[in-house]
Amino acid sequence: MNNAREQLLVEGAIAVRVEAAETVASAADEDEAPHREMDQTIASARNRERAERLRALDQALDRLQANPNEFGICEGCGEDIPVARLVLLPHVRRCVACQQSRESRARGRRHVTDYR
Ligand SMILES: [Zn+2]
Repeated sequence: MNNAREQLLVEGAIAVRVEAAETVASAADEDEAPHREMDQTIASARNRERAERLRALDQALDRLQANPNEFGICEGCGEDIPVARLVLLPHVRRCVACQQSRESRARGRRHVTDYR
């Protein structure tokens, strides 16, 4: 899990450096401006996503340290979350079935409030 966290930090550092280099390189060409804006929008969305993943990962590490016996147990049904899912997404708190039913419930709620 620590490796995943470090990997994320390394990825983030590289992305920031690439972003800065690209801004300098394309600043001379005005025609590139729309592309540059789009690139920066994508890059900042990626950085935001990375920051969120990092935060989720930190919270997962906290939970692991606080309650090692409960880590990897689905908060929805209490069953073990498959190890393959935890390896891929160490921060998840629910199995696939519970995550999906939770997401479709959330969509359902939004749907209902649309008609109020
Ligand atoms: Zn579950």
